Amino acid sequence: MRQAGEERLERMLVEKIDIEHVEPCFADETKIRLIARVPVDVSELMPYLNAMLASATYVRDRPALTLTKGIRLITVYPRRVTIAKADDVADAEETLAWLCEKINHAHDHKGEIQPVFEGKIRIKPLDIYGLLPQTNCRECGEKSCLAFALLLLQEKHPLRDCMPLYREKKWADKLRRLKDVLEALGLET
Ligand code: SF4
Repeated sequence: MRQAGEERLERMLVEKIDIEHVEPCFADETKIRLIARVPVDVSELMPYLNAMLASATYVRDRPALTLTKGIRLITVYPRRVTIAKADDVADAEETLAWLCEKINHAHDHKGEIQPVFEGKIRIKPLDIYGLLPQTNCRECGEKSCLAFALLLLQEKHPLRDCMPLYREKKWADKLRRLKDVLEALGLET
């Protein structure tokens, strides 16, 4: 006869999310950043998680879902999760177990949850511009930092194309904040 725990395990959509890669967190070197693999495509559940979790923002075009847990910044992609600002591997594993539970809850209770397809945060090119050096030096190949900001949001430039941001220490704080914003939008940093 099957135990209750075994039956629950059979029903779980995502049993475990395994960590694949760990590196120091660029925003805070005392923390870690990691990539983990989701065993099934969770795209369809993102609008339900968006509705369930107050800190979540759905980025429909990608698709991706960003959320926070304490200071941890979590981005869920269809088959992948990244976490920034986790304390250590044990903390990351605990966060992934928490996320697993939320994904399974969304899956099990889809009929009772009204999905939300709109993102809760809106970042405009001017917001990004405010975090760029604003020197219009053209090293990125664009005529102005504002043009670069627009193209960055459209994923036509990676952030690293703004070389002064990485080269000059005086922009280190802006670079950190920009990476946080891009990560929150589910964009690659
Ligand atoms: S390289 Fe950076 S600082 Fe220079 S114009 Fe492009 S975005 Fe602005």
